[in-house]
Amino acid sequence: MELSIRNIAAWLLSNYFMLTGKINPVKKLAKNGEILLSVYFHNPSKKLFEGCVKWFLNNGFTIISTEDLHSIIKNNKPLPACAVVFTVDDGWKENKDNIVAVAEAYKIPVTIFVTTSPVETGDAYWWTTIQKAYDKKLTNQSVGALKLVPNEVRIQELERIKQISSNNRDALTVEEIKTISQSAYVKIGSHTVTHPILTMCSDEKSYLEIFESKKTLEKWIDKPIEFFAYPNGNYTEREINNLKSNGFQMAFTTKPEYVTLNSFKSPFEIPRFDVLENVSFAENIIRMTGVWFAQKGTKNNKEA
Ligand SMILES: [Zn+2]
Repeated sequence: MELSIRNIAAWLLSNYFMLTGKINPVKKLAKNGEILLSVYFHNPSKKLFEGCVKWFLNNGFTIISTEDLHSIIKNNKPLPACAVVFTVDDGWKENKDNIVAVAEAYKIPVTIFVTTSPVETGDAYWWTTIQKAYDKKLTNQSVGALKLVPNEVRIQELERIKQISSNNRDALTVEEIKTISQSAYVKIGSHTVTHPILTMCSDEKSYLEIFESKKTLEKWIDKPIEFFAYPNGNYTEREINNLKSNGFQMAFTTKPEYVTLNSFKSPFEIPRFDVLENVSFAENIIRMTGVWFAQKGTKNNKEA
């Protein structure tokens, strides 16, 4: 945990929530099959990911696959008791040791949503390039600011920065994607080609980001790509229609809510709770169980 006033306050608050039994009603709802938990990671340490796996297993949960979730929704089956689904966004190079190795050791399923261009080119993710440049004062545009501008404007600034700064690989390689896709515990999904904010893209660009990522991943792993996660959680009806017309079956948002029978109506808007890398484990328990988002005064600290 990064020792900041915010994190220490959140740690105290999370311990208070746990001590006052705020997780118990969540466990009860999950046990009754009224809710299913859905959590997502980006680039957790092995200690954090393994800690989350152990926490759910020790608390009587079963980690189910995205295929299981899809089959439940498609066939209108009841939600299984005490179930949680694990997804991972972006395709960070550390995922191989910190997530895939743990998933195999504990025999638990994970779905990794891969952004294909950084895998193929070896370029850093755009937001790490911008963040580094911003810290070095090579740009006055923050990552947050560039998420709010038209896609072409963001690309223009990114290309300028790439000319004047170093650029190290963040993502897994094509070979590594092929290898991990062979694991019985790993499913690969799409997270676009370049991780743009889809809602800031033209119609054509938004379509191609979805279409080409699916085509590329299917070529690499020789398996159908059926599931998708929206970069930064941004989407509109246009993206849902593009996913449907490209044969996708289900998509994940970053809306911090429980999966309920209501979610069956919108398989392209499956909610998820985020696990953060720089906060206390107590806070992550409170986040993963949705208690964080149900309590007044706490707000979502959303990552890419
Ligand atoms: Zn992402």
